[in-house]
Amino acid sequence: MPVVRLEDVTKLYKSEDKKDKRKYIAVQELNVSIEQGEFVFLIGSSGAGKSTMLKLMSGEITPDKGAVLLDDVNIARFFGPWKVRLARTFGVVSQQTMLIRKRTIMENLMMAGRASGMGRKSQAAAEKALGLVGLPNVGGCYPAQLSIGEVRRVELARALISSPPILILDELTANLDDDTIWDIFHLLSELNNRGTTIVMATHASQYVNIMRRRVITLVDGKVAGDVRNGKYGDIV
Ligand code: ADP
Repeated sequence: MPVVRLEDVTKLYKSEDKKDKRKYIAVQELNVSIEQGEFVFLIGSSGAGKSTMLKLMSGEITPDKGAVLLDDVNIARFFGPWKVRLARTFGVVSQQTMLIRKRTIMENLMMAGRASGMGRKSQAAAEKALGLVGLPNVGGCYPAQLSIGEVRRVELARALISSPPILILDELTANLDDDTIWDIFHLLSELNNRGTTIVMATHASQYVNIMRRRVITLVDGKVAGDVRNGKYGDIV
């Protein structure tokens, strides 16, 4: 089962101001190892580097220094057909919606299924994933017809379509009401109990405090705390 390791990982960004040629540090010297089956909360203020760390982990972006390893293989080496292995390993919900507006929910999910190499099994897998998130009847809807809470759950279903061993979730519960957040955390706990690794950037402090899982805190792009059974704000 996959272990993800970040070794001395630094990611730099160019300024959005084209005249400014300097590079800015998004994250630096990250050394983090995540074992299969862990539930990890990634916390830190806005701009601390959470999204960057998640994108590095799933191979969406590559580091400027250091390496991201999936079972000891540098994921920079996963290109061409090997990308399917990444798509099957990581189920991702990012902050920007990945749903295509002009496609139905079922079409969206089946496209994701095909991208992770599921071929003809995509439809059955999409139906199963929608059932898992408690929305078995939305397949024929378009994203704009759903509430924000339903959209988030559909995005989670999309991430779950190939039953990936690792879920990478960026602010999945932002701007949702308490009941919906609680339903989502309940589902994530169940998936984790069945062995899925979950790495989740969140500001939902009260839920982090109830769940008592591993809490990694980023401050200015560095790991400032990494605590087992942690609470929001624990820095040890
Ligand atoms: P968080 O998710 O904790 O809010 P991010 O990882 O989004 O933090 O950002 C970390 C830093 O990197 C911020 O200063 C942000 O402005 C910068 N950054 C992130 N993505 C880009 C990008 N594509 N271009 C330029 N700067 C970026």
